[in-house]
Amino acid sequence: MHNIYDVMIIGGGASGLIAAVALARGGWRVVLLERQDRVGRKLLSTGNGRCNLTNLKAGTENYHGDRQAVRMALRAWPPKKVMSFFDGLGIPCTADEAGRVYPMSRQAASVLDALRLGCDEAGVETRTGFRVTALNPGEGGFEAISEGGERAYARCALVCTGGLAAPKLGARGDGYRLLERLGHAIVPCFPAIAALITPPEPVRGLKGIRAEAEIALLCKGEVVKSERGEVLFAESGVSGIAAMQLAHAVNVALFAGKPCAVRLDFAPGMDAKAMLSKRAKDLPKRGLEDFLNGIVPKRLGQTLVKAAGLSLSTAAGALTGRQIDALAGVLSGWMLPVTATQGYDQAQVTGGGASLKDFDVRRMGSLCQEGLFAAGEVLDVDGDCGGFNLQWAWSSALIAAEGIAAMLDGR
Ligand SMILES: Cc1cc2nc3c(=O)[nH]c(=O)nc-3n(C[C@H](O)[C@H](O)[C@H](O)COP(=O)(O)OP(=O)(O)OC[C@H]3O[C@@H](n4cnc5c(N)ncnc54)[C@H](O)[C@@H]3O)c2cc1C
Repeated sequence: MHNIYDVMIIGGGASGLIAAVALARGGWRVVLLERQDRVGRKLLSTGNGRCNLTNLKAGTENYHGDRQAVRMALRAWPPKKVMSFFDGLGIPCTADEAGRVYPMSRQAASVLDALRLGCDEAGVETRTGFRVTALNPGEGGFEAISEGGERAYARCALVCTGGLAAPKLGARGDGYRLLERLGHAIVPCFPAIAALITPPEPVRGLKGIRAEAEIALLCKGEVVKSERGEVLFAESGVSGIAAMQLAHAVNVALFAGKPCAVRLDFAPGMDAKAMLSKRAKDLPKRGLEDFLNGIVPKRLGQTLVKAAGLSLSTAAGALTGRQIDALAGVLSGWMLPVTATQGYDQAQVTGGGASLKDFDVRRMGSLCQEGLFAAGEVLDVDGDCGGFNLQWAWSSALIAAEGIAAMLDGR
């Protein structure tokens, strides 16, 4: 006779680990199946190793995909409740002025340790190196079969396999295939939170340069979304949080065949023309090569001068009104076509995923297969940068844990 657990959790990442702790603490027999040789590898990389684990200001506007499900999840497990769950695991948290929440230690490793220890203390059986390739429903529960032919059995199954972003940290998209085979629809996936790719020529020579800007995404000439913050130029594109936040909207637009461009404003809220006219009067001998120094980094200033169709050797005092207009135009509205975003290798999260229309979102329970549940990035929800993605992983997993407990209890 094989060992039948109450619950098998497929994927030992953020959502799988927290669900395992919650269920095992409730007295259920839990087996956690993880394809890598250790659990929670991606968690270690979050928030630059500090783990931005939620955001006090989380609202549905910070999310894409199925916002109805997000609303339910934020109501059932709001950031403060998630924080007190972590406090109970030995992880007190602190928030910064933007509402971003971190462990007091500022170490992602301590969050992972707390989850791992929480699993051990509550009696979760963890099986690493177990890549689930088949999930078969049968009488009284599920059979999971690993790539190597191992088997596990449980009354319920919770799919927490994540998405496709950052494959080096474990993402393979297996969860989509497992769910699809059990009747679930998958909303087409794409990288979200990723750098934007532009033609190489306009940004040539700017690699590594950072600047504060307002960056707006224009599709067919209309502003679709804008962000303010630091942009970082790359070999053939624009990165930095502000730019990466536009990736979801870029992919949606490109998917629909709409051409995209970004408009970069390096003097947001300022009268760029008045500022440059005064500057030209104050510094008439300054060559355009150095004219924008102090407003933007030098190399970026030179690129903008060229983008305005001006010569670097011209002296500021010789600028005509039209030329000042042109320069002010690029300083506050430099347009760059966007041809794509970076791929999953460099992306932080996946857009699209298993459709929540096939789930009862009050329990995260499948409407296609009894006893089947899912949580985290595998579902059709992705959030902005700032702790929103982990908030979704924790809250959807904790709802699933409650849903599973209710089902096992016969409630
Ligand atoms: C570099 C980086 C930094 C990030 N920083 C932040 C941040 O600071 N704040 C934030 O909110 N979000 C951040 N994110 C996003 C966040 O990490 C994810 O949204 C979150 O980890 C998703 O949780 P999950 O449990 O759904 O999936 P994951 O954490 O990806 O876990 C999925 C697990 O399932 C396992 N698995 C996959 N397939 C199988 C299979 N067939 N069988 C068994 N196991 C399987 C994987 O190996 C993995 O361990 C970041 C992402 C990246 C890549």
